[in-house]
Amino acid sequence: MPRFFVDRQPENGLLVLRGEDAHHAGRVLRLRQGEALTLCDGEGIDYDCTVEQIEKDAVLCRVRDRHPAATEPGQRLTLFMALPKGDKMEFIVQKAVELGVSEIVPYLSQNCVSRPDKTEKKVERWQKIATEAAKQCGRGRLPRVRAVVTVEQAVAQAAESETALFFYENEKKTGLRDALADGVGRTVSLMIGPEGGFTLEEAEAAVRAGLRSVSLGTRILRCETAPVAALAAVLYAGGN
Ligand code: SAM
Repeated sequence: MPRFFVDRQPENGLLVLRGEDAHHAGRVLRLRQGEALTLCDGEGIDYDCTVEQIEKDAVLCRVRDRHPAATEPGQRLTLFMALPKGDKMEFIVQKAVELGVSEIVPYLSQNCVSRPDKTEKKVERWQKIATEAAKQCGRGRLPRVRAVVTVEQAVAQAAESETALFFYENEKKTGLRDALADGVGRTVSLMIGPEGGFTLEEAEAAVRAGLRSVSLGTRILRCETAPVAALAAVLYAGGN
């Protein structure tokens, strides 16, 4: 079933696709009057629709039913990701969205090799990748990629979640399974470091702020592997 995100509520029982989405629905998918499609408000509500009318730059869709999207995880997951080198962030954003993350917050820490001057354009590109991934995998919530923050800001924001996990490559005592033995909160933050890992000072500051330092096992995972493994494990523990 074709899926599109819309940023408005229905008016008179109609939702309208415009721009690239209208082109995709009308010209690429060649949807015709009466055909079914799903429109999502990006906040977890799905609208079952049929095509009412196809115009040059718009596709009018009649809303037949409205219900919570069945594809969202039970937790609101935020991935705090240290900026990796090259275009690795594109892979990380795509996989994190497929796995069910709600928000991605890129941050700069001491060992980040990549330190781009202007990050706005990159954030725009990552948001585009997130939106495409969300459509492709059937998400009901449109995940947001936030502006790049400092490691201190990332720690402070992560600490606000009910479950705040700091994935530390030098953690020897607490495995992720032990940390989640008492359950997973409704809001979960996962903080992953860059290629060079975290400094001891960063790890100590995160724990002081209330994050739980956890290990993903005895092997050191690449910075693009770690978020995928961490998200999969947390989702599994949360029953998703
Ligand atoms: N040098 C490799 C690279 O270039 O990708 C390894 C990067 S690893 C240091 C990057 C981040 O992944 C770490 O800071 C940590 O957040 C996470 N990570 C990797 N392996 C981990 C493990 N076994 N336990 C916990 N976190 C891990």
